[in-house]
Amino acid sequence: MIPYGRQEISEEDIEAVVAVLRSDFLTQGPMVPRFEQALASKVGASHAVAVNSATSALHIACLALELGQGDWLWTSPVTFVASANCALYCGAQVDFVDIDPRTYNLCPVALERKLVEAEQQGRLPKVVVAVHLCGQSCDMQAIGALAKRFGFAVIEDASHAIGGRYQGDYVGSGRFSDITIFSFHPVKIITTAEGGMAVTNNATLAARMALYRSHGITRDPAMMVGESDGPWYYQQIELGFNYRMTELQAALGVSQLARLDDFVARRHALARRYDQLLAALPVTCPWQHADSYSGLHLYPVRLQLEKITLSHREVFEQLRERGIGVNLHYIPVHTQPYYAAMGFSAEDFPQSMAYYREAISLPMYHTLSEAQQDEVVATLAEICHG
Ligand SMILES: *Cc1c(COP(=O)(O)O)cnc(C)c1O
Repeated sequence: MIPYGRQEISEEDIEAVVAVLRSDFLTQGPMVPRFEQALASKVGASHAVAVNSATSALHIACLALELGQGDWLWTSPVTFVASANCALYCGAQVDFVDIDPRTYNLCPVALERKLVEAEQQGRLPKVVVAVHLCGQSCDMQAIGALAKRFGFAVIEDASHAIGGRYQGDYVGSGRFSDITIFSFHPVKIITTAEGGMAVTNNATLAARMALYRSHGITRDPAMMVGESDGPWYYQQIELGFNYRMTELQAALGVSQLARLDDFVARRHALARRYDQLLAALPVTCPWQHADSYSGLHLYPVRLQLEKITLSHREVFEQLRERGIGVNLHYIPVHTQPYYAAMGFSAEDFPQSMAYYREAISLPMYHTLSEAQQDEVVATLAEICHG
């Protein structure tokens, strides 16, 4: 089976992890701050907080932004459930904004329309999570302008987009947002097995996220209530979690980060090849905005079903049966039973549903060979022309 995504692990990566195993610290040592500094300086952010997953990063980002009971978080339906669940962890409520039919990202025109209505109803969102689907940045200039006008905070969910750029800056530079989060799950662009990071240019938000990462405990006398009892002393000043990243993960992250630009360049070479090879097939290839240099985590095609005798599901099943490990990103979150129970119905977000009925993510990863890519395209061609 050719999978839709997989990690690339070098001998250097393995040696970096083994070196940590032979060292004094398996957790809370020097590698986590080294990874944080390396990633912050790579993307051009002032602060970074490493955690055990992007889901945790989303949670501490929402907590740092003081999202809570009575507040709303808005995001795109076409994302992994974690982009929305973070609001529910904080006791806040979730609503969605439909996608742009070309980029499949949260549509700024739909966002503005919904904000104007929400303002009249007195239920403006406190946080908007802008998900850079497949690695292509959202229209952050437009979203950032709306954030100023309507007074909400912006979290960029860049789980797909590390190494990508927007208007020339690396995703994570934070020009139009408050916090950006990354995922290092093995299917993503760089991996730490499990892991995530939140970056920001705001020192207060960074300090608050660091607190929530580790039980709400501080050893910094400046943050304490009253005097320190002595050198052993720490204080719990918030209710936090244990979301820490290990030294093993951080060492792998530092080693992988050194190859980030190569990883993304390889994905672009594969995407260009797919664009050419698929040109004559009844599928729509991903469209790229001129402002964006995508991280290209995913390469979804949309089936032009009026030109194909099989259904979307049949094409998907036949690809899987013939060894092509395709996937579908994503089942719109508002249709998940947990969210549907809150009162959402499928057709609330018609562009997201139209995408869901046609999309198939083709294999896209660093070590995918040209021969394998040819096999993917030939198999898809045979199935479509049945
Ligand atoms: C993978 C992913 C997450 C969650 O990442 P984890 O590191 O697995 O917690 C969140 N949002 C999006 C868009 C993702 O693709």
